[in-house]
Amino acid sequence: MPTKPPLCCCDLEGVFTPEVWIAVHHATGIPELKLTTRDVKDYDELMRMRLGVLDRHGVTLGKIQEVIEGMDLLPGARAFLDRLRGAMQVVILSDTYYEFGMPFMRKLGLPTLLCHTLETDEAGRITGYHLRSRDSKREAVAAFQGLGFRVVAMGDSYNDTTMLRAADRGFLFHAPENVKKDFPDLEATDDYEVLLGKLLAAAGLAKP
Ligand SMILES: [Mg+2]
Repeated sequence: MPTKPPLCCCDLEGVFTPEVWIAVHHATGIPELKLTTRDVKDYDELMRMRLGVLDRHGVTLGKIQEVIEGMDLLPGARAFLDRLRGAMQVVILSDTYYEFGMPFMRKLGLPTLLCHTLETDEAGRITGYHLRSRDSKREAVAAFQGLGFRVVAMGDSYNDTTMLRAADRGFLFHAPENVKKDFPDLEATDDYEVLLGKLLAAAGLAKP
């Protein structure tokens, strides 16, 4: 084992699972739910819009959880994560909410998930959301480094790039072309096997 124990921070949506809001958009037919942080830069504005349209269409947390229960992991995700967890500690850092993320955690073998929380009323309407912190992925990486870990990381999108750059080594996985183009300093791959090799090498571990 290298002097500093390695820890891998992984994104969730786009690298292990499809995007939840897109799936909810398809399941409900609500056009506004197709918008992402790529279309609406201000996250609070985007979330207020999402909660507003869910409310207007009577879509409860229970309905969204039903959609999520029906979603499959990306092919190869579970096998990759099992092998990664066999080699080093893994924490999933996501900008999702526990109410959305936990069904996926059960499918992924219950890895540790650090994300945010939703507020609901007795009728199951989503009435608000609470972010633990504004730049939670990057802050988690810095905190783990402060605890003496060598941090490697992987993610697919703009909201991962501060985490990937803060990590000792960060990799883009399944990233759209525009993200790859905007962050040419981050090595990118679309293959779990290649990614596993890169993460282990970056962590100072031999591939099993
Ligand atoms: Mg993602």
